Formats: sequence, structure tokens, C-alpha cells
Amino acid sequence: MQYEAVIGMEVHVEINSRSKVFCACCTDFHAPPNTNVCPVCLGMPGTLPVLNVDMVNKSVAVGLALNCRISRWSKMDRKNYFYPDLAKNYQISQYDLPLCHGGWLDIEVDGAARRIGITRAHMEEDTARNTHTIAGGQSGVDFNRCGLPLLEIVTEPDLRSAREAHAYLTELKQILQYLRVSDCNMEEGSLRAEANISVRPVGQEAFGVKTEVKNVASFSGVQKAIDFEIARQIAVIEAGGTVVQETRGWDADRGVTFSQRLKESAHDYRYFPEPDLVPVAVDQAWEDRIRGTLPELPAARRARLAAQHGLSAYDAGVLTQSRDTADYYEAAVAAGADPKKAANWITVELQALLSESKQEIAECAAGPAALAGMLGMIESGAISGKMAKEILAEMFSTGKSAEDIVRERGLSQISDAGALLDAVRRVLAENPAQVEQFRAGKEKVMGFLVGQVMRATGGKANPQMLNDVLREELSR
Ligand SMILES: [Zn+2]
Repeated sequence: MQYEAVIGMEVHVEINSRSKVFCACCTDFHAPPNTNVCPVCLGMPGTLPVLNVDMVNKSVAVGLALNCRISRWSKMDRKNYFYPDLAKNYQISQYDLPLCHGGWLDIEVDGAARRIGITRAHMEEDTARNTHTIAGGQSGVDFNRCGLPLLEIVTEPDLRSAREAHAYLTELKQILQYLRVSDCNMEEGSLRAEANISVRPVGQEAFGVKTEVKNVASFSGVQKAIDFEIARQIAVIEAGGTVVQETRGWDADRGVTFSQRLKESAHDYRYFPEPDLVPVAVDQAWEDRIRGTLPELPAARRARLAAQHGLSAYDAGVLTQSRDTADYYEAAVAAGADPKKAANWITVELQALLSESKQEIAECAAGPAALAGMLGMIESGAISGKMAKEILAEMFSTGKSAEDIVRERGLSQISDAGALLDAVRRVLAENPAQVEQFRAGKEKVMGFLVGQVMRATGGKANPQMLNDVLREELSR
């Protein structure tokens, strides 16, 4: 029997607002435990929440970037459950009237485009953090994270493979970063991805029983967990068993998913409207205002850069991986850099320097105008490509311009035919045997003679010009 996987993703993203979603507490959850807290986020009886408008604006921006409709009338609901990380015993979330709904995101896997439906994106509050590593076998709860603005983005069950899920997450993260609404740091939990996975025989309409895989720390982990889960479910069915609806964890070391708890259904949470908050009514003018602030999104920018500058799909992809990289590239081109050469230097040499020093491109000392200046010096023959690599490394560490570095270190390439001619004539006079060999048809000697002139000029001879002058002298 052939099986088909059916996958839906739920992504929780922490929105980078300065204050929490329902109180004025600071959102820095790295502060000492339980210092960024107040009666509201500690769940004291009688306190009243107030919705953070920055959270609404940023959530609308995400919704629009994901082609969602923005609800004209949306409300908050209470999701009831008991757990020590949520002191009021309910989470304020959105149930039947989410802020954003009915959108889509296009992805591409192996050149094939797929449109993934976005069911909804809704606002909620994050929970506190439980710590079980306190000395003496005690557990602690840190409420700094409780009440952080959280946006949950849910897809339709449109994904059909682990690689599609990976492509979806990558594209989504890029959009969130372009919008500058979250740092999307998975290790710190600002972006959490859960996959709902089921399998069904090919051709069957009805969905199989799904499992939910949670707490995976990386996109590649999500991809591996989905692949494992698909194979596991097929094996269960083939052996005559039935898949159990449950939440499963991911053991990255062993590469397996494991059962955590039976999955609750929505009705288990006894959702009801939050009586302490007014509904959220985003009218057309409000929506238009947010739409006007949206930057050019990654897919559009990729396509535009490829068309405008004749870049390969690969280069356009690398250059638009982050908004800052794309900004840097376009600034270098605007400063006069050749578009293809700038693409090569940024994606290869500059990227290597950045990853080596763990720096961000927006902060690096060698700015786009400086890169354009350096490329201009290669173009004019003032420096060779080989010298430029060293020069760029120095620009990167000192912030100096290529011109200054060349002047200070006396690096300038000899591109003056007269100056080269002296060196060439000297070398030919010193090596009469090799000159004879060349004239007798032994072309290989050319390499030796080039090397000698390079040595005589301290490696500064313009290679192309040297070649021309040398051949001309030898043919005399
Ligand atoms: Zn608070």
C-alpha cells in the first residue's frame, strides 16, 4: 500500500514588543527570575488586563504578509487549564474569532511551487517557565515570560512531506524577520514549531489519526521528527495497529519521537469569551495604515533582484536571506558596484568573514560603499582579485577604505606598462636559456618567466598586463 503524509504546522512566535501583552511589564525574560512581574501577569484576583496595541499592529502586519483577511471584529477568549506556569488557571487567547484568517504562503521544493493555506493567526499570552534543575530536587516557576505577546500561526493540513514543512518554516521565519516583529530565535524559544502529522492510503479522502510533535529546537529537527513520525505511523498501520492521537516529544540524540500525553481536544479547554477585555475592531483605515508600513517581502525581493541584475536563483536567494543582506547588496550596487561582482563578493568572501567573526552584516565595519570602492579598484586594475581578498579582510577588521589600505601598505598593482617593461627586460636578460627555449616552441617556460617578473615586482604586477608585455618582448 502507498501512503501519503498530511501535515499541518502550528508556529508560536514571540512578538518583540517592549511591554507584555496585557500589562506594562518589560519583556526581557533574561532578567533575574520573577523581577519583570506585576499583579496582572502574576494572575492576582481582581486585576484587569489591557491589550497592548503594538501587539495588535504587529499581528496585523504578519497577517497581511501571509495574505490573510483581517477580522473587523475579533475578541479574546479564556482557555482554561491548570498548570503551575499559568497562575490564573487560564490563558488569554483567541478561539472562534481570531485576528487574522484565511491566508496563504507560497513555498518551493525542488523547483515545484506549492501554496500552503494559513488557517489563522491569533494573539495570546505566553506562559511562565518551569525550572526543574534547582538544587535539592525542587522545581521553580519564573514568571518573567508569563504574559509575553505570542502570535500563533496555524496552517491548513496542506503540507505533504517533511521537506515541505522545512521550506514553509524557513519562508515564514524570513517573513517574520523582514517584518522585524520577532528575533525568531528557536534556541531561546521565541519561535516554536509544532507539527500535526497523519498518514493515509493514497487516494483516500479522510484524514488518518494525527499526532502532534512538540518541543523541537531546530527546523532540521522538525524535518527529522516528521520523517520519523511518518515512518512510525505507517509501520503501526501495516502491523495491524491503530495510531493513537497524542502529543509526542522529539529525542534529538536518539532521533526518535516518544509519547508524552494524550492529546486534548478543543472542548476540553472550556473556552469562553474573556469578559475583562473589549473586542478588537480593526477597521479598513487601520488595516491600510499597517499595509502601508510593510516592507518588500522576501519572495518579491528575490524575484526583483534576480530580474533586475540577472542574478542566479541561488545568488538571489542568498542575498535576500535577510533584509539586512539585501539592503547591503542594493546599497553596494547603488554606490556603483557591478551587480554580479558585488553578488559574488558578498555571498562568498564577505559571508565567510561574517560567519568567522559571528558578526551581523548590518554592523560590519566594511560597509556597502567601501565594498563598491574596492570593486572599482579591481575594475581599474589598481589591485588584483587576489590582493582584494586580503584588503577586504583588513577593511572588515579596521573599517578603513580599500584606497587607504593600498596606500598605507604600498600594495598598488603595477598597471603601468612602462614600469613593467623595465622588469620584464631585466628578467629576460637574466634568463637567456629560458628565452631560447620559449622561442624554440616550449610554451611552458612562460609560467617560469611570469613567476620571475612577479618576484621582481613583489607580486604587484597586473597579471594580464604582464602577460601581454612579456609576450610582446619575447616575440621581438
Ligand atoms: Zn505584568
